[in-house]
Amino acid sequence: MASDKCCDPPYGDVFLKQSLDANEKTQLLNAKWESVHHYGIPSKYVGGKFRKIQFRWFVDNTWLHYSTSKQGVYCAPCFLFSGKDENSKQKSLAAVPLVDPSNIGKTIQAHAVSNLHRESCEAAHNFISVMTGDKKDIVCSLSSAHEQTVEKNRKILVDIVDSLILCGRQNIAIRRHQDDRSNFAAIHQLQAKDNTVLRDHLEHDNPRTKYTSPEIQNELISICGEIISKTIVEACNAAPFFGFIADEATDAATMEQMAIVLRYYDCAPSRVCEDFLCYANCSATTGEALANAFLQNLETAGVNLQKMRGQGYDGAANMAGQYRGVQACIRQIFPKALYTHCKAHSLNLAIVHASKEPLARNMMGTVQEIAFLFDYSAKRLFQFQASLAENDHERVEMEKRKKLQTLCETRWAARADALYTFKTAYGTVVKSLERLSENNDTKAGAYRAAITQFSFIITLVAIEHVLSGSVQLSKLLQSTTCDLVQAATEAEVVKTQVEK
Ligand SMILES: [Zn+2]
Repeated sequence: MASDKCCDPPYGDVFLKQSLDANEKTQLLNAKWESVHHYGIPSKYVGGKFRKIQFRWFVDNTWLHYSTSKQGVYCAPCFLFSGKDENSKQKSLAAVPLVDPSNIGKTIQAHAVSNLHRESCEAAHNFISVMTGDKKDIVCSLSSAHEQTVEKNRKILVDIVDSLILCGRQNIAIRRHQDDRSNFAAIHQLQAKDNTVLRDHLEHDNPRTKYTSPEIQNELISICGEIISKTIVEACNAAPFFGFIADEATDAATMEQMAIVLRYYDCAPSRVCEDFLCYANCSATTGEALANAFLQNLETAGVNLQKMRGQGYDGAANMAGQYRGVQACIRQIFPKALYTHCKAHSLNLAIVHASKEPLARNMMGTVQEIAFLFDYSAKRLFQFQASLAENDHERVEMEKRKKLQTLCETRWAARADALYTFKTAYGTVVKSLERLSENNDTKAGAYRAAITQFSFIITLVAIEHVLSGSVQLSKLLQSTTCDLVQAATEAEVVKTQVEK
């Protein structure tokens, strides 16, 4: 058993301190004595007897504390929270400890039911609630009006963010030529129809705090972007390895940008992901400059570069170059990141080279020009549709198509569809060109002569047949789920088809 004088109460002696911080106050209010015997409270000789402070007083009144330095008892909540204009009797347990043990029982009883004590206990209870997080900060609780404003502004901000996200998801421009008639504003007006809070905000609030300015839009967009890229990077870093894909794209302002994409296996939905991470602004286009820009962007985003096992680009010299290309520069630092020339690009290149054959080139040129001919003139298009209406067989074959398609400039496999349409509507095309030329349309006459030649027809049929086989392969090669075995199998099928 511990000796009588070895321990202090389970809290500091408040009368020895100038002031208490929040943690010390909490400790003082929460402290309970397990046994007073161990704390060596001395007996006092009062009125001809030795009197001692009773342990049960501390048990019955948990607020009652003992000060070793003053050798007296006091009320912790009143000491911390009572005001200054209390009467002297109450003051004796609050500001000044009670040192005379002779009448201590009655004094404590009277104190426990006093208004001062009740108020102090309530203040102490609120203080503990704030400290443990059960209750909001006193500044917020004091002003319910302020709290309501915070709540209202949050709701408004959520609506504004929602409309930005909607624009992003639907791939529509946020603003048009005028700010007040922007898509963004139109969505707000629609939202405000059933949303009085938003309507009130848009109509009556201070224009300086509307949160709809382009600056705020940009800020919100970049916050959304940060959240998205953080999610992608976390998933990518959780995978054992990742592949890095980049390709050049020219934006609407003809600025060259490099799209950076991560390919990795995400365990949570169990699938291979190919996620666009960001655009890298590239001032120089040498392999070394691009490699540095890529690595810096990945590093800034927080991607664990040590896990890079693959790189995929097109075959441009600055990307694929064996010594000074991006892939070589990156492999110098991360040797395990093997380079693969994007197979969809390779297939496209093969088709482009094959189509350099004069017959094929002429045929495609003619098809493209005739598509434009009908596309850019309402009169000619009308003639085409009138001829199509007369030809039942071709109208059925064309399904929902009402006009010819132009040839895709970049994805050559996609040209198969345009060639198929031309081949299907061949009779209608000849008929409408014939009628147009009868009406003194000399261009139409020349095209009619060109497409009725045997060499044109045979080239159209042959190329359409070959390309239609490569459409599926091209789509497969671009899909995220495609693996090497699948790609090789499908490529072999197309190869056999072409060789037949
Ligand atoms: Zn009290």
